[in-house]
Amino acid sequence: MEKRELTCIGCPMGCTLEVRIEEDGGIEVAGNTCGRGDSYARKEILSPARIVTTTVRIDGAAEKVLSVKTQKEIPKDKIFACSAALKKVQVKAPVYAGDVLVENIADTGVDIIATKTVLE
Ligand code: SF4
Repeated sequence: MEKRELTCIGCPMGCTLEVRIEEDGGIEVAGNTCGRGDSYARKEILSPARIVTTTVRIDGAAEKVLSVKTQKEIPKDKIFACSAALKKVQVKAPVYAGDVLVENIADTGVDIIATKTVLE
């Protein structure tokens, strides 16, 4: 049996979650004030995922970089590959917030979108 302590990010209360992972894969969650904490802990143990926010280079604008993010969460173990792929990306202004800049980043099935409008 393994024990892990997590902080729930479901709301500002930030409950401390105590998670017990049994040999047979069973998971018990304690310390959560509501059901979202239980769901968060199980997802964090079984398939942790994150939204990635970063920047890519942009040409043809006063600014040198453009803020971008994954359109939704990607598996945590794909974050390095995602960041490495984005280091090679260079876009050209104008770019509008919400534009898809890279499709299926690192074979995650998730696109990279601009989070800001940058004009020429
Ligand atoms: S368990 Fe519920 S109350 Fe506690 S931090 Fe998570 S969402 Fe908020």
